[in-house]
Amino acid sequence: MAVLPIRLAFFGTKPYDRRSFEGPAREAGVQITHLEPRLTVQTVSLSEEHDAACVFVNDEVPREVLVGLHARGVRIVALRCAGFNNVDLKAAQDLGITVARVPAYSAFAVAEHTVGLILSLNRKIHRAYDRVRDGNFALEGLLGFDLNGKTVGVIGTGRIGAIVSRILQGFGCEILAHDLQENPDCLAAGGRYVTLEEIYRESDIISLHCPLAPETHHLINEAALRSMKRGVMLINTSRGALLDARAAVVSLKSGQLGSLGLDVYEEEADLFFEDLSDSLIQDDVFSRLLTFPNVLITGHQAFFTQEALEAIAVTTVKNLRSFFDSGTCENAVTNRHVAPR
Ligand code: NAD
Repeated sequence: MAVLPIRLAFFGTKPYDRRSFEGPAREAGVQITHLEPRLTVQTVSLSEEHDAACVFVNDEVPREVLVGLHARGVRIVALRCAGFNNVDLKAAQDLGITVARVPAYSAFAVAEHTVGLILSLNRKIHRAYDRVRDGNFALEGLLGFDLNGKTVGVIGTGRIGAIVSRILQGFGCEILAHDLQENPDCLAAGGRYVTLEEIYRESDIISLHCPLAPETHHLINEAALRSMKRGVMLINTSRGALLDARAAVVSLKSGQLGSLGLDVYEEEADLFFEDLSDSLIQDDVFSRLLTFPNVLITGHQAFFTQEALEAIAVTTVKNLRSFFDSGTCENAVTNRHVAPR
């Protein structure tokens, strides 16, 4: 029996997406229309005559956009990422649109990048790189600390948090963990589950690995920052809005927050994944963060490894094939499935 092709509107395409999706899509009979714009209410009309839409972390998928997708025949939104905080799941369910995701592609990629940020910030590698290229070999200002023996608080100990715990255990750190549920992998990495208050009070480094949800929005706010150890290092490779960036600026200025490593930013949608080097950045909080020598920001690249891109492409295509062939998809984040074509 001939396999029906799936017509996929692929929003926010980058050259690396084209490369990683080409093979898996061809094999699975997925015909991709690569679209450079992100999915927003202004661009939803580009999904005309497609069965499915593929989106990433900064695409906007509120009810209005889902209605637009549905009206144009789209039956599934395939997220090529793990988080789905940018999709109105209730609206998707009301419309009978399935939302699928890639729950795990390379937890190692994000965990390793997290540790990279910790090491770079601590030993000021980002500053040393510039200094040495400028013929400045002075060490003043580059003083770090031994990670061995330090206490690290890991908030959210799922796949990524557990690997971060394991890597840092190898550095000789004490791991304090906080989650709604204990993960045996984190316990095996020496993690000791404690309250958030204890994490804030005891940790030299705090790393965020829980999802963004209404309960975790601005989890790290002014009060949380105030209750941390003076000079604490804070790392966020999870989702930008876990951190109140304005409060972080105030805390950095006072020296309470000792250093900050970010791969994500609450207002990143207008910044990240684009070359804006010829533009004037309009976000004053972001611009202020860039002025601190003890802040290191990467543009949502923690996931960006060869292995992760391959896994994202293979799972996304599998999600689509499974949905259109059987009407169900094991990686669906909505409960309701429509009948296959
Ligand atoms: P996961 O689902 O395996 O783990 C998340 C953990 O957070 C779970 O154990 C869950 O119980 C816990 N959690 C939920 N609510 C919590 C709360 N209120 N307080 C404490 N813990 C809570 O997810 P994962 O694969 O480890 O990914 C973690 C996060 O990393 C994702 O939510 C995503 O936002 C982010 N991420 C970022 C990148 C990147 O490139 N920067 C890539 C992938 C994932």
